[in-house]
Formats: sequence, structure tokens, C-alpha cells
Amino acid sequence: MQLLADLEQQLQALDGQKLLRRRRTADTPCAPHVTVDGRKLLAFCSNDYLGLASHPRLIEALREGATRYGVGSGGSHLISGHSRAHALLEERLAEFVSPHLEQARALYFCTGYMANLAVLSALAGRDADLFSESLNHASLIDGTRLARAKVQVYAHGDTEALERLLKASSAKTKVVVTDSVFSMDGDLAPLPRLLALCEQYGAWLVVDDAHGFGVLGAQGRGALEHFNLRSPYLIYMGTLGKAAGVGGAFVAAHATVIEWMVQRARPYIYTTAGAPALAHALLTSIDLISGHEGAIRRAHLQQLIAQLKAALHLQRWQLFASDTAIQPVIIGQNAEALRASASLLEQGLWVTAIRPPTVPADTARLRVALSAAHTAADVDRVAQAINVAEAESVA
Ligand code: PMP
Repeated sequence: MQLLADLEQQLQALDGQKLLRRRRTADTPCAPHVTVDGRKLLAFCSNDYLGLASHPRLIEALREGATRYGVGSGGSHLISGHSRAHALLEERLAEFVSPHLEQARALYFCTGYMANLAVLSALAGRDADLFSESLNHASLIDGTRLARAKVQVYAHGDTEALERLLKASSAKTKVVVTDSVFSMDGDLAPLPRLLALCEQYGAWLVVDDAHGFGVLGAQGRGALEHFNLRSPYLIYMGTLGKAAGVGGAFVAAHATVIEWMVQRARPYIYTTAGAPALAHALLTSIDLISGHEGAIRRAHLQQLIAQLKAALHLQRWQLFASDTAIQPVIIGQNAEALRASASLLEQGLWVTAIRPPTVPADTARLRVALSAAHTAADVDRVAQAINVAEAESVA
């Protein structure tokens, strides 16, 4: 059949360019020792930044949630799927981020991907201008495609370029959207300056804090706490499948914005509500993140980040200017990045190679993701292995 033959040809072309992606199947939690396809590995590729995904209290809370509310929600939020577990979680999340937002209300989503589609499609209608940072996550890019607004992309971190665009815009509604922690580079967006511009030019600032929520800020409230920001112009998206260790996401903003989303965000309205048991377990996640245990885990993670950066001695490969748990080692060519990842795998270390189109051409990389569940010895091990892999690649 011709249709199949066309697809097969395209897949072969991807394989030829070393761009074919492969999944690996884990038989145990990635915690961070994991059994993958029958092999025991030490993983540095999970976003479980605080090591909560297999925390006994969360496992117990999930069981309790399933007993109390059942497993499936059975309906969309506006029909019959909105349970007390969702309502309590939304209240708790709104309270948690309320130091940074005016009249905060939160809306829970099954995934961050859906949350980003929802925010952008609901806020940036036909009469809006939407300004998107060039290294934004794929889910935000897809959100800009779903929005009917005119989309303009500004270069990474270039607040002057953004200001020129804002100044030139006569749209009634302006929306600026950015990752807070860039998911493939690990650096931070200049949020204070972005917010000042948004306030000056009357634009919403949508912040995707997928990699900051739970990790940044003394209390783990994320990037807004890290930068000590508060504004009615802020629209905050935090994910709950990374540091929070469960799954799902939330959007928090002024109550009026959230009510607008409930009425108008199609990715919120036309989908089955997430499992209430997960929402129930997430209440315990927020307790852990905001409590003493969260603070200890964040401090340990910070030590590991500093340790890794000090222990890597790279000659040709390059470490990015990142102080977060995402530490990319830029290699360049796809084949070399794959060879490096394979060399680490032989040594029992699971570090993913990230290639285009996820990152720009010629910037293929190893993306080392640290977690509070790692030990100092784990971090030494991966640093030494990367140093050796680089030396071998030169030889
Ligand atoms: N935004 C960013 C910056 C992300 O890295 C991700 C997930 N990789 C998402 C959004 C999507 O979140 P989720 O995985 O919950 O769909």
C-alpha cells in the first residue's frame, strides 16, 4: 500500500539522520535506580526532581483517594466529573501560590500540555497579539497554533526585541508567553523584566513553570517565589507530574481569568476530568513540597547541582549556564550525542541524548536531570563517566 510505503520511507530517512526516537520500558520506578528492559541502571533523565514519585506517603494517599472517590472521574468537569478531590486540590493550589497572584484561583488539568493549550487558546483570540519566546516548550508552541491570535516569536531572552514588538502592537489583548526554566537548556527567563514590560504595555504574562514548581523558591512555590513577583498580569502554569511526583497540572491566576477559562477553554471543557484519586494524592504532594521535607530535599538538590558542575571538566563539549536541576552537556552532532549516551548506558547510566527538532540543529546534547533522590556518589559517578565519554570521543 502506497500510504504505508511513504511512511516507511520517512521513518528510514529519520533513522539515516540519527533522529529516530526509541522508547525504553521501565519495570520499576525511576527512583533513580531503575530496571529498564531487564537492565539495572542509574537514571539521570527523570523530572522527579524531589524524588517524590515513589514516596510512601504519596502511594498511601493514592490508595486512600481511590478508595474514597473511585478511580475514574467518568465525565468532563462541566458535566459530572468534577469531584470534591479536584475542588480541594484547586483550593489548596490557589492558596499555595496566592502570595504571588491577586485574588488567586486555580484550575486543575490532566497534563501540562493540555493546560498550555487551554490558556493560550482561551486568552489569545482573533483580536489578540501573542508574543512567544523562541525556546518555549512544544506544548506552548502548539498552544500558539490553537490560539487564533497573530503570533510573533522573540529571540531567547531578548527583552529589548520583545519591547519593540509590544510597543508596535495596537491589539486590544496582548499576551506574552514564556517558559520560566527552559526545559532543554535549564536557564531561567528574565521574569522580572518581562513582567515590568507586560505591566507597562498592558499584556498578560503567561509563565510555564513546569520545571520550577516545587523546586524553586524557599517554600517550593516556584519561579514567582524565586523572583519575588506578584501581579494581576501574571498567569501561572505549574505541572504536577515533575517535582510534585504525580501527574497533571494547574493554571493559577486572578479568579476572573480562571472563570473565563472554565467558560471558554476548549481543552478544559471537552475532555474527561483526571482521576480523582490522583487529585487526592496531590494534596499530600503539596504538603510535602511546602513542609520541612520539601525544604531539605530542595537544599540537597542544590548541593548536587553545584557538585555536578564542579566535577565536569569538559574540553570540546560545553556545559550550559544553568543553575537548575537541568544540566545539558552540549555535544553538537546527533551521532556523537547518541554515541555518548550509549557509552554511558554501557556503564549503567541512563542519560538521554536530546536531538532536533526538540533542540536547534547542531546542538544535540546529553540532558542530565538531577533529583533530590540522587546521592553525592551518584553525581560523582555520572560526572566521571561524562568526562571519560568526552575523552573517548576525541580519541
Ligand atoms: N511545559 C514544559 C516546559 C515542559 O517541559 C512540559 C513537559 N515536558 C510541559 C509543559 C508539559 O507538561 P506535562 O508533561 O504535564 O504534559
